[in-house]
Amino acid sequence: MSIVAVVGRPNVGKSTFFNRLIKRREAIVDAVSGVTRDRHYGKSDWNGKEFTLIDTGGYVKGSDDIFEHEIDKQVELAIDESDVIIFVVDVTTGITPMDDEVAKLLRKHNKPVCIAVNKVDSNKARQDAVEFYNLGLGDYHCISAINGSGTGELLDEVVEKL
Ligand code: GDP
Ligand code: MG
Repeated sequence: MSIVAVVGRPNVGKSTFFNRLIKRREAIVDAVSGVTRDRHYGKSDWNGKEFTLIDTGGYVKGSDDIFEHEIDKQVELAIDESDVIIFVVDVTTGITPMDDEVAKLLRKHNKPVCIAVNKVDSNKARQDAVEFYNLGLGDYHCISAINGSGTGELLDEVVEKL
């Protein structure tokens, strides 16, 4: 089963996106137990391809001030165990230092990455999204995890890379 991990700093909308996509939750306790409490697993499929989706950072309390190394750990795990990574960022805040940190880690590896610029709920936001080219990871998809817009195009790219 292919694995797709959703990474990014807190509050960008990872869990909203995850919950929109999954059909059933999995209680996978695998070799990386000890860290699984920080992660939610679910099954999804798109264009006839099934995959396991991992929502990272799920149980972190006071997630606004999550330690940066916690995110780094999640990203490194995702790089290790997933086939494709969805890197979620937030158009309403623009690029933050923590986003840059995640991007730096992802650029060091060859793992396929799809960027989801979330909270794009207006045309203004769509224009603002161009700044995310500066993450140095190529093109991005504008999505709204809340209303689902853009998520189909994003998933087209994700399953193409599986
Ligand atoms: P996580 O910490 O990355 O898992 O982020 P959450 O999924 O918990 O979402 C953080 C906040 O962003 C919540 O208040 C969500 O309702 C909000 N949010 C998520 N997706 C969207 C979106 O597409 N548009 C807007 N306007 N808000 C969103
Ligand atoms: Mg979350």
